[in-house]
Amino acid sequence: MRVYNFSAGPAMLPEPVLRTVQEELLDWHGIGSSIIEVSHRGKHFSEVIARAEADLRKLLSIPEDYAVLFLQGGATLQFSAIPMNLLGGGSADYVVTGAWSQKAFAEAQRIAPVLGGRVRLAGSTEESGFTRAPRPEELSLDPNARYVHVCTNETIHGVEWLELEALQASGVPLVADMSSHLLSRPIDVRRFGLIYAGAQKNIGPAGLTLVIVRRDLMASPWEGTPPVLRYDRMAENGSMLNTPPTFAIYVAGLVFQWLESLGGLAAMAQRNEAKARLLYECIDATPFYRNAVEPRWRSWMNVPFRLADESLNETFLQQAEAAGLKYLKGHKMVGGMRASIYNAMPLEGVEALAAFLRDFAVRHA
Ligand code: PMP
Repeated sequence: MRVYNFSAGPAMLPEPVLRTVQEELLDWHGIGSSIIEVSHRGKHFSEVIARAEADLRKLLSIPEDYAVLFLQGGATLQFSAIPMNLLGGGSADYVVTGAWSQKAFAEAQRIAPVLGGRVRLAGSTEESGFTRAPRPEELSLDPNARYVHVCTNETIHGVEWLELEALQASGVPLVADMSSHLLSRPIDVRRFGLIYAGAQKNIGPAGLTLVIVRRDLMASPWEGTPPVLRYDRMAENGSMLNTPPTFAIYVAGLVFQWLESLGGLAAMAQRNEAKARLLYECIDATPFYRNAVEPRWRSWMNVPFRLADESLNETFLQQAEAAGLKYLKGHKMVGGMRASIYNAMPLEGVEALAAFLRDFAVRHA
């Protein structure tokens, strides 16, 4: 029996995708072996990666002047690769809205001097406990920055942020960590210079990192950048300067087909908004639970919440697990609970969680 899995990532994958993987595992399309046992440069895997790229381009309407890269090392390696490729001895702005943008900023601070450049903190909501996006007047942006970095969905703090007009006023390229909400709703790729995401939430298995980057921004990497971290070299080589993560790319490709079959990202946005609304309404309905994020910035994907009486935390988790609702424990940095409700979480899973929340509150009032 499959449980409702609220893990922040690696997270639930769509069941139809898992079934296809299972069916194709011994014999992919009649070739007598699985797709993960053949050369990444052969005809079969070339078809798989080409179709995955084409389907992703279609889902997100990615323009031709953007490269799509299938990389490794997680979103974390991009914290280093982004300055290596884009800083060019200049300065970059970082906006900190939670744990992940804070980590990206810390790595940029570490590596910028090595690259002969600088980074600035252009805004932070830390004093609010990371419960909102910054207000435009709180930002101090450098119009000459090489890029401005944001995390548009903070997986740990549950802050989602796509109203980025204030950041774009000066035309500085926007670099966005979308690890935990890419493909959950439509976005306008043209508003960004670079989008990156680790795959293990909405995209596919861990081990794959997507980078979507405007081609003109790839032109002047730091000369010491290892070749596999260079966007220009990876783009020239179809993400195959070395062996790519073939299994993760294959599964991600199936996820893209699944998304398309359900009506694409506009349909996903409707489903995700409905799921999130249901859960937040349930949390807000009683002082027994609390989500601290300002309603306007609440994430559709990651819903952190606390019990008013935290001595009930262990009981809550045990009873939830017994009810088939797993991995609700919050990130160790913030404690409490967190329900991650990515694309593959069905509405029924969120309904089951909401029913459990109501019932638990009544029983322990
Ligand atoms: N950014 C965000 C927003 C994340 O949620 C995560 C992982 N939870 C990361 C970066 C780091 O990703 P990875 O583990 O793939 O390096």
